[in-house]
Amino acid sequence: MMEEDQTNIVVFPFMAQGHIIPFLALALHLESKLRRLPNLTITFLNTPLNIAKLHSSLPPSTALRLVELPFRPSDHGLPPDADNTNALPYPLVARLLHASTSLRGPFRDLLLGLVAGGRKPLCVIADIFFGWTATVCRELGIFHAVFSGASGFGLACYYSLWVNLPHWKKPDAVEFSLPDFQEGSPVHVSQLPLTILEADGTDEWSVFQASNLSAWADSNGILFNTVAEFDGVGLSYFRRKLGVEVWPVGPVLLSEKNRRSTTPSRPDGASPEQCTAWLDTKPPKSVLYVSFGSMNTLTAPHMMELATALESSGRDFLWVVRPPVGHDINAEFDAGAWLPEGFERRTAGRGLLVERWAPQAEILAHGAVAAFLTHCGWNSVLEALSNGVPLLGWPMAAEQFFNASLLEGGGVGACLEVARGRSGEVRAEALREKIETAMGETERGREMRRRAREARDMIQSALRDDAAARGSSVRALDEFIDAAMSAMAESRNGPKISNGDASIPREQISTSV
Ligand code: UDP
Repeated sequence: MMEEDQTNIVVFPFMAQGHIIPFLALALHLESKLRRLPNLTITFLNTPLNIAKLHSSLPPSTALRLVELPFRPSDHGLPPDADNTNALPYPLVARLLHASTSLRGPFRDLLLGLVAGGRKPLCVIADIFFGWTATVCRELGIFHAVFSGASGFGLACYYSLWVNLPHWKKPDAVEFSLPDFQEGSPVHVSQLPLTILEADGTDEWSVFQASNLSAWADSNGILFNTVAEFDGVGLSYFRRKLGVEVWPVGPVLLSEKNRRSTTPSRPDGASPEQCTAWLDTKPPKSVLYVSFGSMNTLTAPHMMELATALESSGRDFLWVVRPPVGHDINAEFDAGAWLPEGFERRTAGRGLLVERWAPQAEILAHGAVAAFLTHCGWNSVLEALSNGVPLLGWPMAAEQFFNASLLEGGGVGACLEVARGRSGEVRAEALREKIETAMGETERGREMRRRAREARDMIQSALRDDAAARGSSVRALDEFIDAAMSAMAESRNGPKISNGDASIPREQISTSV
């Protein structure tokens, strides 16, 4: 088949569930939105163990093509089965990042094989940790985009912190300004993710990010799982900083059906039916939903304070509980040890504790939910705002701190930050007051609810795709594909790909993929 008759898109996430799942959501989104392209094939790259897991869990309706790149964790001083951050303790994550750059050779060979077989990719969409893929694609004349599952604002703060390391230059300061992103300034020391807080420019993370982030300039642009209408400031940062295109195409979220089939290793929590049956018994907009994403949990003292706050608030709540920091978060939850004595008895009927995992998408879509106490992971945020649910923010890691700033400040205005991180004192009374502010008939609470509804409307219009209107996210995806197609057309007329200085004889290139 000639290149003109087929469309091959290659997607390539870093080896972590928090990256693989958003990429899967993107791949399924592209599959459904780009049917008009001739013979669309989406090739999903990863390392062997991750691909094996995906094989057994992909939704039956998808035609995604799963392709392994060779990778042996033990060659890099990692446990033999550890080709995913989920299998690694925190200090080894940096080693996996460094080890992932060994995929460069196999990735390049794979692209060369596709080109030689007349299946040159229309584009490669790769992870924020795979800057080197942009350099390879530039060299081979293949259109490339970075895909960010994080918000534009959150990623802009994160990028700027890494390239400037302002806290390292002023070790005694508690607030820093971002020299190239004033809109994100000031950043408080309590908002620094651990990897950045510990960075001194020479540690493993700093060394990795220095080459990773600078290579983004080789990319043609960045696809964001976000909405231009409320996240424009962060998007502008990348246009101006890197001089690349930015395409906000979100929200791109897994449907509840696909989510069930693609997260088989999640611990069993309540079924959707159990949660919705309980929510059905509650009045409209009465319940506080509490959950801290797929990986985070509270410290034991914070958990006690939150339980006390929920009890004294008098509000209905649905709380996804996990063992506190220091315990296996997938282990059984010991309410007797981690919650105030008699808590469950006293809150019976008013509170539902769900162990480890709840059907979040369905809960947030339920009319009984009034507000969401969240760690501000970007998927959770998008799921809440898609349903017009206001947020109480308790960011814990990564770019969640900056998501909370975007959500609380002018950008969205639908959030109240209640606490930050895992250290520091959190008092039940302060939490209770903030719950009341958000859920009660206060001026701030009404404003948050209004802004959350506005954000929902913005999301709905960004996704609108009918004869009367095409929303910003729909147009951004079209613009991305148009840019990739123009680049493909130009490259057909331009010089042929070379392997270093020598042209590659067709028969010497593997076409096994
Ligand atoms: N999630 C869920 N049930 C839970 C916890 C999490 O369905 O009990 C889903 C949630 O809907 C979201 C994802 O897991 O889609 C969490 O992603 P997010 O970006 O919010 O946070 P992360 O887990 O990456 O920190």
